[in-house]
Amino acid sequence: MARSAEIQKCPCGGADYTACCGRFIAQGELPRTAEELMRSRYAAYTLGDEAYLRATWYPRTLPEETLVSNEPGMKWLGLEVRRHAEAGDEATVEFIARYKLGGRAQRMHEISRFVREDGRWYYIDGSFPERK
Ligand SMILES: [Zn+2]
Repeated sequence: MARSAEIQKCPCGGADYTACCGRFIAQGELPRTAEELMRSRYAAYTLGDEAYLRATWYPRTLPEETLVSNEPGMKWLGLEVRRHAEAGDEATVEFIARYKLGGRAQRMHEISRFVREDGRWYYIDGSFPERK
């Protein structure tokens, strides 16, 4: 990843990576909402930050295998958050993530579930409404 003092766009669509998701991924700030966590996890996928993805996945549902795709030619294109609903310490975020694999544009439509424990939001799992 190129490092420079210039303002970098956030992979999740935010104007400034440092002020958007970088403060969570690189500076250890805690997201206050499940949507902030979801956006930062998307950014971490685009950056290949396996450690951040594991740290923000609820331990009981965390898979053993590597989370970051190492498929050649995998390129994330953008994120669109459709809906964010929070009720107490539980939340769902519906989003569409676009990516390119092997030259073909793809989309992932997911409804993610999150839980908050000790003030920290965690990703639990997701369902895929179009994959039935
Ligand atoms: Zn962001």
